[in-house]
Amino acid sequence: MNRTKHTKIVATISDKKCSAEFLSSLMEAGMNVVRINTAHQTPESAMQIINNVRSVCDCLAILVDTKGPEIRTKNIVEPIKISKGERIAIKGGDEPSGEGLLVVDYPNFARDIPVGSSVLIDDGELELTIVEKTDDRLIAIIGNDGFIKNRKSINVPGLSLDLPSLTEKDRQFIRWAAANDLDFIAHSFVRNKEDVLAVQQILDEENSKIKIIAKIENTDGVKNIDEILDYAYGIMVARGDLGIEIPAEKIPAIQRKLIRKCVERKKPVIIATQMLHSMITNPRPTRAEVSDVATAIYDRTDAIMLSGETAYGQYPVEAVRLMTRVAIEVESNKDKRNDLPVPRLEGEVSAFLAEAAVMSANELKVSAIITDTLTGKIARYISAFRSPSPVYAKCHTGKVKRELALSYGVFASEIVVKKNKHKLVETSLLDLVDRGFIAEKDTVVYVGGNFGVGGGTSFIEIASVAQMMHQKKEKSEK
Ligand code: PGA
Ligand code: MN
Repeated sequence: MNRTKHTKIVATISDKKCSAEFLSSLMEAGMNVVRINTAHQTPESAMQIINNVRSVCDCLAILVDTKGPEIRTKNIVEPIKISKGERIAIKGGDEPSGEGLLVVDYPNFARDIPVGSSVLIDDGELELTIVEKTDDRLIAIIGNDGFIKNRKSINVPGLSLDLPSLTEKDRQFIRWAAANDLDFIAHSFVRNKEDVLAVQQILDEENSKIKIIAKIENTDGVKNIDEILDYAYGIMVARGDLGIEIPAEKIPAIQRKLIRKCVERKKPVIIATQMLHSMITNPRPTRAEVSDVATAIYDRTDAIMLSGETAYGQYPVEAVRLMTRVAIEVESNKDKRNDLPVPRLEGEVSAFLAEAAVMSANELKVSAIITDTLTGKIARYISAFRSPSPVYAKCHTGKVKRELALSYGVFASEIVVKKNKHKLVETSLLDLVDRGFIAEKDTVVYVGGNFGVGGGTSFIEIASVAQMMHQKKEKSEK
């Protein structure tokens, strides 16, 4: 049997390249979630992406990435050429950037950055050192040759700036995401639970059920991961900024630690940035990039992400295809002895049954785990135990189906059920047989509830599909 990948793929899409044909080919190649980076979009331009995504498939989840409390370059029309050893002035403000002057979008930049700081631009591509401060501007010495482009990130490592949780633009995009019923908000530079709660508050005001992904990209976020996970649906390990705010050599260990935290808490985790960076311009990745993708999967991540590779790169479909191939290869070579221990959570029937289901998948070689899920919770719980067999989740809403697009090994689809609880199992199985995911002779595990939709998970059953369907039919006929 052709194995399908269990690791989910998030691909960043820009309005400049978002045709339905393009999106279809990415989906075909393995994309599960579309990421819209609001740092480079307006609500109007992003709407185009959404319309096109929805015309392709309602199974694709949409994740909106906020700008968050960060600083970016602004008002650059033509990239500014800079050379090592030259000087450049930097200031917050509204005037145009140009030769000799870089304008940034943090008004107090000159006031708050001390002389001696190093300032990194574009995920650390360019480095400047502040040598002088005048009334309204800083003077920096350029550390390496290159071009400063518009709206590129600015980091001042080690400096905790007193930026608010949300910018006005973030608020606008969060409300817009709620109004358009999108699936995830990935909030940038989350430092603590307050940053998550600030997003949640707007969502609550808008009566929105959108799930929050906390982007961990600075020291505070790593330090406060436990309280952040108390309030966020999941996290993204945003290695672009993280690798600048924290020495890059610390990232692999942090990545591992954060994945482990999420698996323990049964929450989805995305590993992001520069995974196949060289494929922006090259048809083939470096061996190191392939190993990076593999490492994230060996570390037990739920999802891996592409940024520039799909947003503006020359080989977007190839990049997604490559990730899919690496995932299939690595997943089938995972060593069970390296599985992360997942606590069952005391007294939680769902977690107990989820673990039992995956244990049977490991020991009895069942071909699939099947569950029906109202909120997605039982599917995420099963996913946390990282089953070797696929988890087919039958969902009652498109929303829950799309939320599961971030969970490892979960293949979600919708189900229309009548009131009869036995029909739920039968209908789920029948649909999966019809669509060729399972065969009647297959041994499968069913994780379900005997107390109707919303009544909670209460049993697991291990038998052949034929046996289960036959039995349920008899029961419901009685
Ligand atoms: P960004 O986030 O692309 O929005 O900066 C990802 C990262 O920092 O890794
Ligand atoms: Mn970032």
